[in-house]
Parts: sequence; structure tokens; C-alpha cells
Amino acid sequence: MQEWEREEPLIVERGSGSYLIDTEGKKYLDGTSSIWVNLHGHRHPALDRALKKQLDKIAHSTLLGLSNPPAIELAHALVRIAPKGLARVFYSDNGSTAVEVALKIAVQYWQQRHPEAGPKNTFLHLKLAYHGDTIGAVSVGNIELFHARFKPLLFPTVEAEPPYCYRCPLNLIYPSCHMACIDPIEQILRTRHRELAGFIIEPLIQAAAGMITQPAGYLKRIRKLCSKYNVLLIADEVATGFGRTGKMFACRHEGVTPDLMAISKGLTGGYMPLAATLTTDEIYKAFLGKYEDFKSFFHGHSYTGNPLGCAVALANLGVFRQEKTLVRLLPKIRAMAEWLKPFTEMSHVGDIRRRGLMVGIELVRDKKTREPYPPGARVGYRVTAAARTRGLLIRPIGNVLVLMPPLSTSTEELKRMVECLKDSIETLAID
Ligand SMILES: *Cc1c(COP(=O)(O)O)cnc(C)c1O
Repeated sequence: MQEWEREEPLIVERGSGSYLIDTEGKKYLDGTSSIWVNLHGHRHPALDRALKKQLDKIAHSTLLGLSNPPAIELAHALVRIAPKGLARVFYSDNGSTAVEVALKIAVQYWQQRHPEAGPKNTFLHLKLAYHGDTIGAVSVGNIELFHARFKPLLFPTVEAEPPYCYRCPLNLIYPSCHMACIDPIEQILRTRHRELAGFIIEPLIQAAAGMITQPAGYLKRIRKLCSKYNVLLIADEVATGFGRTGKMFACRHEGVTPDLMAISKGLTGGYMPLAATLTTDEIYKAFLGKYEDFKSFFHGHSYTGNPLGCAVALANLGVFRQEKTLVRLLPKIRAMAEWLKPFTEMSHVGDIRRRGLMVGIELVRDKKTREPYPPGARVGYRVTAAARTRGLLIRPIGNVLVLMPPLSTSTEELKRMVECLKDSIETLAID
């Protein structure tokens, strides 16, 4: 904050398509999709219209004991596009709450459905995981900077090494390693499954960790292991959901159905805060019983199933169909992969990781030894500041530059983003 106070603030007043426009009238490409939420561009006519139309009916009514048409229709629509087997929808209002809901459902499920299994009250997760900022979500996360300070407040969990191939924890090389990093995970599941309610994972790519991608087949193997050891698989698709990885959900790349799936960010196309936790009929059934058994899942936020959010989320799914967003994305993803190739030659680019239009570029001080830049060098910050003067807004994660443009970004705009990024990284070569 001390530094931010001295900076020239950028105050966004308007948006249009892939652009943000500040109070001075300056235009910037939205290279972060306004932090990973926007999909079809700003001021999309269909989304604007849906929101206004719902506003003419009602802005909000509770989902506690009542329901509303957009919430009902959206639940049906989500089940239709979700990985097969996910049949039930529980609403909340942001990614962190969607994760909290998944964790609580998992624990209660085991108590009510399989009391004989004993107390399954803890969770397995990968190191460097990010699942949100509330206490439960932080407990299953592991990003030192965000989490260390709050250790005393967090519940204990079990951690495993992620498949961070560029800095392999086992010092092996993919693919000759045959994903040996899964062996210790199986070891954990074998020895501790009795206490594990679930394994929570960001499928395919750990976004906030700095876009750490999982090799093909990784998620599928995790799914198999979870089934084998009776541990629920919780997919946190908050970042990866809604086309970011090239398919509607990341789990789809591996034909995986998780037991619980958290979604939020892209759910409303970046218009309204809304989230959902999807689950199977098998888990849903564990919450049925006589009134006095109190098997309900007692969790309900004030704005749960908000009609404005649900109406715009429905319109968001409508745009996917009408504009064939996922089909039109494929050539853009291919082009992005091509354009990024020359980056590998750059003197401070250590690793380029990408899934769909989610891109992470890890900058290093020494390319040969992979020595990271020290935090004081603030390279991520410097490059993004350089990008801003070139009309591109991005936000780094430490030494990793992140590009996650709206899916609707045109090929020309994408190209401009990549060029801006390249020019901005080149400013580092001077020192
Ligand atoms: C952003 C994010 C969250 C948290 O979502 P919020 O809406 O910011 O609470 C959870 N999980 C993942 C993978 C995310 O990227």
C-alpha cells in the first residue's frame, strides 16, 4: 500500500470487448480477463440484456426455503454441460465459498453415508495449491505468501508435491519419469485414506501457483487412486472452468468426473459474483432423511442463488452456444502456442506453461541454473509496469507473468497482447 499510494492509479471506468478504459479515456487490453472472470468481453450485448431483463422482474429473493426461475434453469443447464455424473448443484457466491461448501459436504457425506468408515475429517492437497482466501480454503492451500501468517488458524491437512516439472521435486525429467511424483501420493492415500475425506485439486493447471501444468494423464491417475482408496475427488474448476483450458471444464480433457466440483469465476461471464458446487446423486442422497434426523447440509449464504447472477450465467452459457465459443477458440489456442515459441529464446525466460488460453511465463535470473530472481528484483512487477505503458494490463504472480485473456479476444488482439508482453520482457535484458 505504501508504494501504491505513490503510484499513478489506474481507475477503470468503462469496458468494451477486450478493452478496459480508464477515467482519462485511455484504452488497455484486458490481459487478465479482469482477474480470470471475463469470457466474452466487456459489455457483451446478450449479457447486458439478460441482466437488465432480470432486473425488471426482481433483483434478489432468498434460496432458503424458496427458489427462483433463473436458479432452477441454471442448475439444469450446468448439469447438462458438467462432467457426466454430476447431477446436483449447490449455490454460493464466490470461488472460496464454493470450495468451503465442497469441503463441508465431503466431511458430512462420510459421517452420514458411511459412518462405519470412521472419522474422515481431513484433506489431501498439492503444495502450491490455491483454493481461495477464506480459512477453510486457505487450509487446503499452500502458497507461502498468502498462507504462512495464518497457520495458527488453519486446520491440519496432508500435502503432496505437485508435478512442477520445471523444478521437479524428484529431480527427474518428464516423460521418462513416468510421473513418479504420483507414487508418494499413492503412498499417502494407501496409508492415510481412513482419515481422508477428499483430495482437492485444481485440475490440469495450478493457476495461482504460477500456472503449473500437469502432464497429460495425471488427473486421470489421481481419479483412479481416489476411487481405489475411497477418497472423494474434489475438482476446483474455479479458474479452469468455462473454456479457459480449451474445453468447457478441465476435467473433460481427461474424461474425469470428480465427486465434487467448485465453479465460480467464469460462471457469469465475469458479470456478477456467483458460484456453485456440483456433486453426484450418490453424495446428494446422503443428505436425505427424516426432518428430525437433521441430515440437511446447513450452509446458506444470504445471496445464494441470486437471480441476477443466475440470469446472466444462463446468458453466458447461451453465448457459448450461439457464438460457438469453444470451436472458435481452437485456432486462437494454436496461434498462441506458435507465438509463444520464440519466447523460449529470450534470455530471462525459464519456462513457458500453457493450457488453452491460460499462460504462465516464468522469468529466471539465470537461464542455465534456473536460479530465480530474488523478490527484491520485482521482475514480474517491472514487466507488467512496462506492459501497462504499452497498453496491456496483466498481473504477475511473483516471477511468473500471467496472460489469461477473455476467450472472445480476437486473433489480432491476442497477437498484440503477445507482442506487448515480448517487448516488455525485453526491457529486462538491459540489466
Ligand atoms: C480464484 C480462485 C478461487 C477463489 O475464488 P474467489 O472468487 O476469489 O473467492 C478458488 N480456487 C481457484 C482455483 C481460484 O483460481
